[in-house]
Amino acid sequence: MNFDVLIIGGGAAGLSCALVLGSGLSKPCSDGKKVALIAHQRSSHLSSALLNNVLGIPAGTAGKDVLISGSKQLQELYPEVQQLIKEKVQEISFLEGGFKVVTNKNTYTSKNVVLATGYAQPFLIKGLEDYVIPHKKAKPSKDRIQLINVDHLVYPGLYVSGTLAGHRSQYAIACGSGAAVATDILTAWNCGEHTQVHDKMK
Ligand SMILES: Cc1cc2nc3c(=O)[nH]c(=O)nc-3n(C[C@H](O)[C@H](O)[C@H](O)COP(=O)(O)OP(=O)(O)OC[C@H]3O[C@@H](n4cnc5c(N)ncnc54)[C@H](O)[C@@H]3O)c2cc1C
Repeated sequence: MNFDVLIIGGGAAGLSCALVLGSGLSKPCSDGKKVALIAHQRSSHLSSALLNNVLGIPAGTAGKDVLISGSKQLQELYPEVQQLIKEKVQEISFLEGGFKVVTNKNTYTSKNVVLATGYAQPFLIKGLEDYVIPHKKAKPSKDRIQLINVDHLVYPGLYVSGTLAGHRSQYAIACGSGAAVATDILTAWNCGEHTQVHDKMK
């Protein structure tokens, strides 16, 4: 299967990126674009989080419930974004004008890839070893990692978001980072004209 964007990781950053990109698929600049999310969630740090300090989320919300409701929200509002479940990425290789992504079950190609797999070790995706460095905003004793990037861009067409981009571990930062990457991709599709997606009350 070929995609225009393949987002890897169904945690805070990945789901947020998918929601914003999904909401932008109705824009003329996104006509015919195919987006998918490898919605692996088992190792999301949200699984054990209790959220009390996030704007708009009721205090006491369990992170594991956000994972479920986020995936449902994506499916209900933007079903064009394909959710590929129970797949884990094992390898990424660079092609001319895109990437080959190998999971434990399938092989995909995509013009753009967004990595949102979190900052925990070990980093098991082969092919990106040259971009992995110690995390610059986490305690060294925690042994966290990030990918070398400039404003979320690792390599043309290859983006990173969330804690793996080098952000501190807060839910709102990870979501914002995923949303930022989505608007960068929408802007690129819109020939460089800055693009965001806002819904308005009628
Ligand atoms: C115990 C705990 C409590 C917390 N409490 C708070 C809090 O109160 N407030 C707050 O703001 N933040 C809190 N956080 C932090 C918050 O959960 C993280 O900042 C946030 O989840 C980071 O988002 P992320 O998308 O970078 O990574 P994650 O949410 O960890 O998502 C990474 C995703 O990538 C997937 N993945 C990994 N490897 C692969 C692979 N090879 N292929 C495909 N998918 C893969 C994982 O399954 C996971 O779904 C807490 C975290 C923990 C651990």
